[in-house]
Amino acid sequence: MTFSRRFLSGVCALTLWGSWAAGGAALAQSGDGKNGPAPQSPAAKTLLLRGQVLSLGQALRRIGAAAGDEDQAAGQMVLLDTRGHIHPLLKDARGRGFWKDRRLRGVPLELLVRQRAASPYVQVIRVFMLKDGKRLEVDYWCDICAIVMYELKECECCQGPIRLRLRPVRDSDLPSSVAPAPR
Ligand SMILES: [Zn+2]
Repeated sequence: MTFSRRFLSGVCALTLWGSWAAGGAALAQSGDGKNGPAPQSPAAKTLLLRGQVLSLGQALRRIGAAAGDEDQAAGQMVLLDTRGHIHPLLKDARGRGFWKDRRLRGVPLELLVRQRAASPYVQVIRVFMLKDGKRLEVDYWCDICAIVMYELKECECCQGPIRLRLRPVRDSDLPSSVAPAPR
């Protein structure tokens, strides 16, 4: 580790704590579930969806539909679920990860999402990769600064490389209001 990276990691540990706390509060409000059941109102639901994230064009071709113009077909990421239904992803702090890292696309996944009744868009809350019968939580980690991130980029703190992190998750770690998808 260079001196500057070590120095930065100390500074960032302090400055990032605030954003981590704010992020945690936002997740709790949006139904992360670790602090109790997510509120289930008719306006918005928390769902565990299983399938693969693909571009809209790839997903439409998979179900035998016309893919449309290339800018829309390639510019929107969707979850194609195991029933063949398409769920467009909201591109925000968590959903953006699927635009930035090809390794997350075209592989078996579960997404914990929020969806409003009036919108087909799903807001990604947590991402689980399914490998060898195991559910693995997906995020990114900087080994220097020991901070978590949710998209592939340079570390927010030391500007060094970060790594894709996969950690096993049990059914009991999921929000109690969300039924695990059938295997
Ligand atoms: Zn770092």
